[in-house]
Amino acid sequence: MEFQQNVSLSNYSTMKLGGTASYLLEVEDINSMIQAIKIAKKNNQPIIMIGGGSNTIWKDEGFPGLVIVNRICGFEIVSQEEIGTYINIGAGEIWDEVVAKSVNMGLSGIECLSLIPGRAGATPIQNVGAYGQEISQTLVTVTAYDMLSETLVTIPASDCNFGYRQSRFNKADKGRYFITGITLLLSKLKPMPPFYPSLSEYLANNNIFNYTSSIIRQAIIDIRSSKLPDPNIIANCGSFFRNPIINPHLFHD
Ligand SMILES: Cc1cc2nc3c(=O)[nH]c(=O)nc-3n(C[C@H](O)[C@H](O)[C@H](O)COP(=O)(O)OP(=O)(O)OC[C@H]3O[C@@H](n4cnc5c(N)ncnc54)[C@H](O)[C@@H]3O)c2cc1C
Repeated sequence: MEFQQNVSLSNYSTMKLGGTASYLLEVEDINSMIQAIKIAKKNNQPIIMIGGGSNTIWKDEGFPGLVIVNRICGFEIVSQEEIGTYINIGAGEIWDEVVAKSVNMGLSGIECLSLIPGRAGATPIQNVGAYGQEISQTLVTVTAYDMLSETLVTIPASDCNFGYRQSRFNKADKGRYFITGITLLLSKLKPMPPFYPSLSEYLANNNIFNYTSSIIRQAIIDIRSSKLPDPNIIANCGSFFRNPIINPHLFHD
């Protein structure tokens, strides 16, 4: 196991900013991950796990401990049921490739989450969402290493305390779980309206009335590409605004 030392963290954030990490390790399997955690714990080093660094802005002081970069891959169909297809996905998979694969299989449920940067393992952290879909709607379980019990655990979606851009992983249990994989249940049915307003508008303007997950994915890619710069070309952290949530009685059309 080769820990890199004094690594520039700007290469591990789409903002391309930040100081250095004392230690950094890219892990491709669960055993190496656990071994690395044990070594860092023994040496009293703080530990953080990241995926693609698209929701992370490092401090100029850097990170005084071990940064584990999750590259645990895998995309495995677990079972095909009448209600849909269960798929196990390694936390280190590039999220948009996961969406592309599922759409190519004719499955729906995450097509509106196309082009969101980052890795699959980060999607439950802030319950990623866009254009009317959130990962909580298709997530069945999260598998993770629990830093408290020092065991691998499987957490059902119902125990993740999902809300708007939040979960137990970025609230009460922040930093406790290192996610190794997620299981999704994706539908074999075509996406159905009503769609998110700007998506609906795009479909109508382009005379699209046959809604497949692949057509919706392409629509989302077109809409997003016209709005946000590609972080691989221009450093950015996406939108940092949140939609306000208000009580219905305060809402006036
Ligand atoms: C251009 C752009 C557009 C975006 N659009 C959207 C959008 O439409 N909707 C949306 O919800 N978000 C959006 N984001 C934010 C971001 O892409 C998502 O939050 C994404 O899920 C982050 O993934 P990541 O792998 O890059 O996470 P990272 O930045 O690597 O990590 C984010 C947080 O999760 C933790 N973490 C990451 N992986 C793990 C793991 N395996 N186990 C435990 N903790 C982990 C990290 O410690 C950190 O706290 C956008 C960002 C950019 C730059």
